[in-house]
Amino acid sequence: MTDYAMIINGEKVFSDTTFDVINPATGEVFAQCPKGTVEQLNEAVAAARKAFPAWSGMADEKRVEIMNQMAGIIEQHQVELARLITREQGKTLSGPGSMFEAGGCQAWTQVTASLKLETELVDENPEDTIELVRKPIGVVGSITPWNWPLLIAVWHIMPAIRVGCTVVLKPASYTPLSTLRLVELLNEVLPPGVLNVVSGSSDIGNAMSAHKEIDKIVFTGSIPVGQTIMGRAASNLKSLTLELGGNDAGIILPGTDITPLLEPLFWGCFINAGQTCAALKRLYVHEDDYDTVCEKFTEYVSKIPVGDGLDETHLIGPLGNAPQLETVKRYVDDAKKQGARVLCGGEPASSPGYFYPLTLVADVTDDMDLVKEEQFGTALPIIKYSTINEAVERANALDVGLGGSAWSNDPAKAKEVAMRLEAGTVWVNAHGKLHPMAPFGGVKLSGVGSEFGLEGLKAYTVNQVISVAKPPQE
Ligand code: NAP
Repeated sequence: MTDYAMIINGEKVFSDTTFDVINPATGEVFAQCPKGTVEQLNEAVAAARKAFPAWSGMADEKRVEIMNQMAGIIEQHQVELARLITREQGKTLSGPGSMFEAGGCQAWTQVTASLKLETELVDENPEDTIELVRKPIGVVGSITPWNWPLLIAVWHIMPAIRVGCTVVLKPASYTPLSTLRLVELLNEVLPPGVLNVVSGSSDIGNAMSAHKEIDKIVFTGSIPVGQTIMGRAASNLKSLTLELGGNDAGIILPGTDITPLLEPLFWGCFINAGQTCAALKRLYVHEDDYDTVCEKFTEYVSKIPVGDGLDETHLIGPLGNAPQLETVKRYVDDAKKQGARVLCGGEPASSPGYFYPLTLVADVTDDMDLVKEEQFGTALPIIKYSTINEAVERANALDVGLGGSAWSNDPAKAKEVAMRLEAGTVWVNAHGKLHPMAPFGGVKLSGVGSEFGLEGLKAYTVNQVISVAKPPQE
């Protein structure tokens, strides 16, 4: 038996079997989660389908009112949700960690509630009036990852229900509990069936992507799974929003005094122990500044307190799960074998849990896995370049393009370089900062479509053009 329940049609639902949820700070199981079945998924989809006409037909102001109530509920439960995130995912309560994540859920809900897609007048001429309205697409299937489990669930849920869609969500198996609790809380004010959650293995995600009664999939996760979903979604030509992996480059312009930029540079690389899709994962530094930047960044990084996220003196927690720890270790070991120089960290901690120290690696080459693969963790390669053109070319050489950044004491110069990066978002003297009104999405293999703001709302709608002929004029 478990304290955590799935929610289907507004009711708590359990399952005959459960799976373990592990605290990454200890490596120990701390809870059981219901393992939903495909039959339960079908019930959830049927409930969402049944709820759709009333929810999409509800007066817009009423939906906004309910969403604002939801924002209030998230705020009231911020500490509870944050502690749950820390226990299942590992990020710290402090700094830009789980309190920040739960706070972001409240802010995103409130901002999304305030957005509205107005009817657009396409043309008014002597013969007709042509308007464009955007109608809710129907039942949305949401599949979320483990790195920012609650915030990404909110990014999927809120625009969908804002425009009148209903939702069935499947959380990642490493981090299902905060989402189950959130959906339970939100169902206190939502009509039954509008928001459902089914926890379980990838079988549930697989069944969702091919489900004939789901009209759209919004997926955040890895590129290979995104590609599988795209293939399976072809059966009923589902609409797709795919937010996939990245391997973001940051370029420090020649002659930059890095000292005032160390703090944003650190968080750009290592927020959530580097397990952030749009974190800076490859740092390009000019050869003349290379030794100074390596030295100053190492000094800064070495002072950051790492440990169990429930202890509020820590700013960086463990990696989220055992395979993630293994990946980071493998990439760093491989780089070391090929002659890279470890500036700090470089060996997994001997303590329990999935800790890998903050690690900076110098003298790396573009062909090392640490550079060309998404390491998604606490290790950063620092790469030497000779000219800006060469740095931009190398930054753009990969087949992913989520984010990118340029760093300089002259922001205008940095902006020129940033704009040459092939990425959905570029930053100057920052990396990974998101805004609920700014469309976010990747180019190349980093994804399809975008989230947030009015663009994000449109992604949950279909167009209807209304063309009204005018009476013939005498
Ligand atoms: P993942 O392995 O792709 O898993 C994501 C979700 O997909 C989980 O809920 C997973 O379920 C489910 N899933 C697995 N196989 C599936 C299948 N065949 N069909 C449908 N669903 C399936 O990704 P992850 O390891 O959790 O997340 C890390 C990746 O996400 C990184 O590459 C990161 O860059 C990317 N990411 C991107 C963004 C963005 O906005 N672009 C944001 C965050 C993360 P189970 O957990 O049950 O296996």
